[in-house]
Amino acid sequence: MIELYPWQQDTWQHILARVKQQRLPHALLLTGVAGLGKTCLAGKLAESLLCLAPDIDFHACGSCHSCQLMLAGSHPDHLYIHAEEAGKTIKIEQIRALKEKQSLTPSIASWKTVIIESADAMTHSAANSLLKLLEEPPGNTILMLTTNAVHYLPVTIRSRCQQMHLTAPDIQSTLQWLKAQRLEVDAVQLEKLAPFTLNAPLTIANALTTDEWQHYQQVQQDFEQLLKQPLNPVQLATEWQQYDLIKVMHQLLFNIKTRLKHYFCEQTALGLPQQYWQIVDCIINTIKLLSSSNNYNKTLLIEDFMVSVMRIAQTESTLSLAPAENN
Ligand SMILES: [Zn+2]
Repeated sequence: MIELYPWQQDTWQHILARVKQQRLPHALLLTGVAGLGKTCLAGKLAESLLCLAPDIDFHACGSCHSCQLMLAGSHPDHLYIHAEEAGKTIKIEQIRALKEKQSLTPSIASWKTVIIESADAMTHSAANSLLKLLEEPPGNTILMLTTNAVHYLPVTIRSRCQQMHLTAPDIQSTLQWLKAQRLEVDAVQLEKLAPFTLNAPLTIANALTTDEWQHYQQVQQDFEQLLKQPLNPVQLATEWQQYDLIKVMHQLLFNIKTRLKHYFCEQTALGLPQQYWQIVDCIINTIKLLSSSNNYNKTLLIEDFMVSVMRIAQTESTLSLAPAENN
């Protein structure tokens, strides 16, 4: 059965208190950055609600008929809805299927549970269709929505759910958990990873066990070079296409902000702040274009970005002398 992560304990206790008071809402919205295990937490709650003999702490027994069906992924009273492919939408047909299923009474357990992962991926019509269900919730159903981007969810959906926000644990707890996963890392490395992990333990673990960390370092290196001397933007922009470009832009934004921090707080960085602000503008503009629904040519966008950064950097030679301290 699903084990909770250490940083989810407080939220679980909050849920447990609600269960004991028989005040569990019909719709829960679990929010927080990616990499905190929100869907796992929702899955854990579904298991416990459906279990025919949960223990005193509301953990599923793991052996009853209902638990066996959950383990096999074929429980008739449970539905898991998600986008069919990463980056795609949750379609209205998926919500219609959910509504049909909710009109039936539970067949094994006393509850019916639904998880909608990354609910912000619902199309407009899917969200409208779900809204009707939220307005008239069936008495025996618990809907659990998760999202990394709560502001992309319509207010009408948000306002009909009980929101629970998960936060990343502190650095020491994260280091302890990573060590238990046999991942050796120190606080300095974690700080370097922070721009794209947002300190979420599962994202950090993923970065350490895949080539994301190498990608991160390569981008830092390329960017430093870009500030120092003219490079071939066509070649570099093509190489960067293998990365998650939005993450890359956030990484660069963090890099520049660190330089600005040093400039204003310690006067240690030598570049001119107005050049940094111009680069910040370029980064923000590129993020906007990359996130736009218009299908811009990403290679051209990055080429453009690189040419602009080089032009800004070359207006004064001082930028090249100012590597960000935490690179
Ligand atoms: Zn059970």
